[in-house]
Amino acid sequence: MRLALERAREAESEGEVPVGCVVVDEGGEVVGSGHNRTEGAEDATAHGEMEAIREASRALGGWRLTGATLYVTLEPCAMCMGAVVLSRVGRVVFGARDPKSGTVVSKYAIGVNGRLNHTAEVTEGVLEYECSELLTRFFKKLRGVSV
Ligand SMILES: [Zn+2]
Repeated sequence: MRLALERAREAESEGEVPVGCVVVDEGGEVVGSGHNRTEGAEDATAHGEMEAIREASRALGGWRLTGATLYVTLEPCAMCMGAVVLSRVGRVVFGARDPKSGTVVSKYAIGVNGRLNHTAEVTEGVLEYECSELLTRFFKKLRGVSV
């Protein structure tokens, strides 16, 4: 999660919403990482999880990420949980909940309620304070509130 936070800080330095993601294989090796670059790429699908999943699939030579764990600083959205299901990521670990767009525990329970053909194990709240603080500070700055 510390590496995912580093990626989130990279996003922030590029003026992007600070969300970072790392995919680790069964042996604990980092095989993919990414951060949000929606603004820079002018692409609504350019979320860190998508980038990290793509990179991990390339690194592992296949789309099935069954033994992999995805670490992300913010609870994934519907698109990213869809990608988790499609790529069969075994475990999702996230930092802060996203009450508006989070689809793991905040809304829908995509990929965890057994209604789709893949269920990921989920751990939440890892380095939660650091992950959410980064976002809070970013949005305060964006609104011109002194931090
Ligand atoms: Zn997403």
